[in-house]
Amino acid sequence: MTTSRTKIDLHFNIVLNGAMAVGSGFRRGQIQRTVARGLDGLPYLPASTLKGRVRDAAERLAQNLGHDICEGPNPHRMCGATRPAAQFCLICRAFGSPGVSAMSGQTGLLWRDAKLCDSQGKLISGVNRQEAEAYYYARTQVQLSRPRATVLEKHLFTSENTLEDLRFSASIRGWLTQTTTMAGQFPAELVLLFSGLKLLNFVGGGKSRGLGFCAVELPDHFELDNRNVQTAAVISEIIHLDRRKES
Ligand SMILES: [Zn+2]
Repeated sequence: MTTSRTKIDLHFNIVLNGAMAVGSGFRRGQIQRTVARGLDGLPYLPASTLKGRVRDAAERLAQNLGHDICEGPNPHRMCGATRPAAQFCLICRAFGSPGVSAMSGQTGLLWRDAKLCDSQGKLISGVNRQEAEAYYYARTQVQLSRPRATVLEKHLFTSENTLEDLRFSASIRGWLTQTTTMAGQFPAELVLLFSGLKLLNFVGGGKSRGLGFCAVELPDHFELDNRNVQTAAVISEIIHLDRRKES
């Protein structure tokens, strides 16, 4: 197992299938925000949220493939707090570990916020507050108290959603600082990162109400160590990550 650095420059789109929940809650309670509004009023997906969701998907995948990974999300039980950098698990090598800052050069991948774009992938900008409001709608639903079929004011459930089928533009750039080689030509961390992105199928809240379903559109090619590399070739190497014993 050798360790080296790999430079990545990846741009991709997140395409919603239907509406996305911006926030919801009961009239008298706090509205819980699940998707952020930018300074311009437009919805966007914060980089930290996006990275967290992709990391979750990659964790499940790595576990299913028989990898031993640390116990998130408690930072005290994760690699950054429990072992030297050279012994980080596959997930922490691909996504970083809490307590290990980007400044130290250990986690060199920079995830950007996913910004609203048009169907051609061009960023939407220069809108005023009123124009930005056109991307949202609010809905108040009444929830009945089942035993007595009474309607109580506190059961007025308000949700704020985005318009349907929005598209966001995102990027991941920088360095994977701890890469390990496998049987194929690409490092394990890169293959896991790309597979995690492909598995992302939900953002924001309201999943039980059919909100937030999405797909990630990766480009046909991207920049890897300043070379032009085929995305499908990276993802196809997921077979080399399989550590399950044949029985
Ligand atoms: Zn770890």
